[in-house]
Amino acid sequence: MAAMMPGKVEVCCLIGDPVEHSLSPLIHNTAFRKLKLNFTYIAFKVSKNELKKAIEGLKALNVRGINVTIPHKTEVIKYLDQIDCRALEVNAVNTIVNYNGVLKGFNTDVAGILRTLEERKISVKGKKAVIMGAGGIARAATYALAMEGAREIIIANRTLTNAVKLARELKKSVKVKVRTLPLTVKALKTELKVSDMVVNCTPVGMSPHTDKTPIPKELLHEDLVVMDAVYNPLRTRLLREAEEVGARIVDGLSMLIYQGAEAFKLWTGREPPINSMRRAALRVLRGENW
Ligand code: NAP
Repeated sequence: MAAMMPGKVEVCCLIGDPVEHSLSPLIHNTAFRKLKLNFTYIAFKVSKNELKKAIEGLKALNVRGINVTIPHKTEVIKYLDQIDCRALEVNAVNTIVNYNGVLKGFNTDVAGILRTLEERKISVKGKKAVIMGAGGIARAATYALAMEGAREIIIANRTLTNAVKLARELKKSVKVKVRTLPLTVKALKTELKVSDMVVNCTPVGMSPHTDKTPIPKELLHEDLVVMDAVYNPLRTRLLREAEEVGARIVDGLSMLIYQGAEAFKLWTGREPPINSMRRAALRVLRGENW
């Protein structure tokens, strides 16, 4: 926890369900402490039917900033006063800023993905990508890749109707070729052979189910960039097997740190200490201290 100094303490928080294993309190409190800011960050478990009350309560308590996670990223939009245009396009808010009682929603997941691609010098321009999942982070990933000039995006999801809905919304705001598929081995087999990139935006492989993978190893190949939004564990079975076949891999930690960094800037107006945030998260992930 950040050491509090006398005077006004600015409060930031996470709302979602579940939130128990989130690394956001750790990375933000590490950054507040490092910059000696009188801020603190806490996680609140908020169920679907308590969302409206939670937002009203946080506004009344004058919290400075809110991060929003599963399952509220889209639902929360209707309780906010203003929405940033990117969040509106993506139809998902993961960061809220309280400007003197006016709550404005932003999407920093898209920026988190774009900065991760930039950091790794991965260009998606003219490339074909498969996104597995159609939830909050899949939404951000499809927009990020479309905005960066991907040639074609395939959304593969367990519930096909959710993929179709996301594809329809994406096509409305970005000019990109989009198709949808059920998340089955048969469907993935044909697409992955001719794809440049695949992003896992499902929780498959996440702790404690670390023996699971969304793609059988035999479908992976060395010409793929394989990204996993899951960051616990850091090296998922998908990433381990992708590395074994010679594919380029990107774990979920950079996305997490960079989306947090963008939120931090919005709340504090300061550049966050990225390396301290990353080191703190790595210590916990490597220690499996959950
Ligand atoms: P979400 O909005 O609940 O969406 C989950 C998606 O995964 C849905 O498309 C769902 O399919 C699919 N899914 C869930 N369980 C599945 C299963 N057993 N098999 C196949 N598909 C399944 O969640 P989210 O916020 O997008 O998060 C997804 C994952 O990304 C989580 O593991 C989360 O920890 C991670 N994440 C990482 C970051 C980061 O910064 N690295 C940020 C956010 C999330 P249906 O449509 O069929 O339900």
